[in-house]
Amino acid sequence: MNPNVLQTPIVYLKGVGPNRAETLGTELGIHTYRDLVNLFPNRYLDKTQYYKINQLQRSSAEVQVVGKIVHLKTVDQKRGRRLVASFVDDTGQMELVWFRGQKWIRENLKLNVPYVIFGRTNWFNGSFSMPHPEMELLSEHKKGLKITMQPIYPSTEKLGNKGITNRVISKLVEQLFMETQGKFVETLSHGILSDLKLISKSEAMLNIHFPKNQELLARAQFRLKFEELFYLQLQLISKKLIRKQKIKGFNFNKVGELFNDFYSNHLPFELTGAQKRVIKEIRSDLGTNAQMNRLLQGDVGSGKTIVALMSMLLAIDNGFQACLMAPTEILAGQHFKGIEELLDGIGVQIALLTGSVKKSDRKIIHEQLENGELHILIGTHALLEDKVMFNNLGLAIVDEQHRFGVAQRAKLWHKNDIPPHILVMTATPIPRTLAMSLYGDLDISVIDEMPPGRKSITTVHRYDTNRLKVFAFMRDEIKKGRQIYIVYPLIQESEALDYKDLMDGYESVVRDFPLPDYQISIVHGKMKAVDKEYEMGRFVRGETQIMVATTVIEVGVNVPNASVMIIESAERFGLSQLHQLRGRVGRGADQSYCILMTSHKLSAEAKTRLQTMTSTNDGFEIAEVDLKLRGPGDLMGTQQSGILNLKIADIVKDNDILKTARYYALQILNRDPGLQEVEHRIIRNTYSKLAQDKNIWNYIS
Ligand code: ADP
Ligand code: MG
Repeated sequence: MNPNVLQTPIVYLKGVGPNRAETLGTELGIHTYRDLVNLFPNRYLDKTQYYKINQLQRSSAEVQVVGKIVHLKTVDQKRGRRLVASFVDDTGQMELVWFRGQKWIRENLKLNVPYVIFGRTNWFNGSFSMPHPEMELLSEHKKGLKITMQPIYPSTEKLGNKGITNRVISKLVEQLFMETQGKFVETLSHGILSDLKLISKSEAMLNIHFPKNQELLARAQFRLKFEELFYLQLQLISKKLIRKQKIKGFNFNKVGELFNDFYSNHLPFELTGAQKRVIKEIRSDLGTNAQMNRLLQGDVGSGKTIVALMSMLLAIDNGFQACLMAPTEILAGQHFKGIEELLDGIGVQIALLTGSVKKSDRKIIHEQLENGELHILIGTHALLEDKVMFNNLGLAIVDEQHRFGVAQRAKLWHKNDIPPHILVMTATPIPRTLAMSLYGDLDISVIDEMPPGRKSITTVHRYDTNRLKVFAFMRDEIKKGRQIYIVYPLIQESEALDYKDLMDGYESVVRDFPLPDYQISIVHGKMKAVDKEYEMGRFVRGETQIMVATTVIEVGVNVPNASVMIIESAERFGLSQLHQLRGRVGRGADQSYCILMTSHKLSAEAKTRLQTMTSTNDGFEIAEVDLKLRGPGDLMGTQQSGILNLKIADIVKDNDILKTARYYALQILNRDPGLQEVEHRIIRNTYSKLAQDKNIWNYIS
């Protein structure tokens, strides 16, 4: 087939015309022949089976039955009337029911003539009925195309209203296959096709729309999903290859005096195997001429900070400055304090820059940054301001990536003529293959091992009605000298309500834990930053035993003496948020607890979340469940959803196909990065067409 045929505007397809073309365009994004053939069915109705009435099951199911209408009547009921037909075969009788379109049906249905009906059955009052069945005369049915598995296409309400039913779409696709003779240009190389025993593009397209049987449908789906994921991976991997070739980075080739001094004389603990491995990965990145762009994943408490610090020392050893950016002032402050302590006596100049740093101090920081006196700058978004200019920034580290957008990452690039190396740290574990798809332009390191001696956190689920028991438990823990968090949800849409919940809760805690025996901190989003810092500070210093808070404490804060995390209305939190919150405890030597408080009203999904939390502490396991519950788009926020715009594959469900696709994409690009070999010509052509459409070469934002 001439490949240009697929670019034909859909209006020219027989049976479409200007009105339908417009509706197809606005409702389904179908503008050309290609768009229509790439509209894949959501599911299929299996019409390979014919049921007898006495074989019907009492559970509701879609079935196909052959029989005759022997009687028609109209039944009046409170709300309107319905048309009821008795339908029989040689084994029994059932009812067909219409609530709409009765006049037309009355006039057109034929009595005592064999029909094939299809629809969902209901069991009611001792008999089966089928509302609004699809009907076809048996004689027509025998003549028609032998479609055994009927495709069900995506639809919208408006399409239905405009008469573009599933049957219409199906007919249009059929028409398109006739006009194009069902021949499609192959898009995968011969090698891949024979290696994976894939069916051809043409056969796959035919069977995705008009499956001959289950087996061919499965093969068509596999082939098309593979193709989609293969080109996605090819795009991501080659983007990364190009970045590595084209974008020069600083070469940190000195051995590293500070690094070695710190490692031998100042390290407060033995690094875990995972930390060592990750540092090695970073070190080798920094020693090439390419710019590093690395994602460091590690569960809360896995020890990412020390990795960040040692990477910064490498930068300083090579005559460069480094910065570390955190999403909140509290977290930036904690990083600053922690790193300052670790670097005590090493002779590295370090400063903290946040929005609340005084103007006069800020000026000094700016000066020292520009003249190179400062080695490390830690701070919040304030680092990104144009006024903040480095003498020679060599490494930028971003903590807790999910709070920062891609645009902010890009801003860091321009803090220097040559972009600094970038390390992004996240505590939101993402299953590895998914991470590779979402952050395809980043290299990935994973800390998958916790520092030794960590006590695992005991997590339980309690109903609100057991609150008194929970209070008693809290008293016991406080008596032992421990501190406690109580966290309330904060969901933007109902902020006022959330605030009320928080204040009610606070009051009841104050009643049960009165002064002077108990001191309570409260922190929420409506407070001024200084007041927040003050209250937070009291808790960090151990002056208060209970911290009542909204999720502002979610990220990073470190109070090793806090051993109990109580999460109120836990059913309203997402899994990754619950896991993050739980990570606030279990940082000291004591047994820690997480108590998930809920009402009795729980959705099935909420139950799954609670059950997951009480059964595992493993962030990756939790991320997998989260992903299945919510889907990747949600998990990552909208900014990355663009690349997930998949037509047929599902990154979660088709993870195995994704892995295979990635393997092949890597193999091919390793051997033939420019796709120059004759064998790869098909791939190069397909790829460059896709690239034109999506402008994927434009990779620096
Ligand atoms: P996160 O990955 O959540 O940022 P941190 O870097 O804050 O974790 O580390 C959590 C705690 O574990 C800190 O108190 C840190 O000092 C400690 N820690 C980190 N690595 C080790 C290790 N290898 N052995 C013992 N303790 C460690
Ligand atoms: Mg951290």
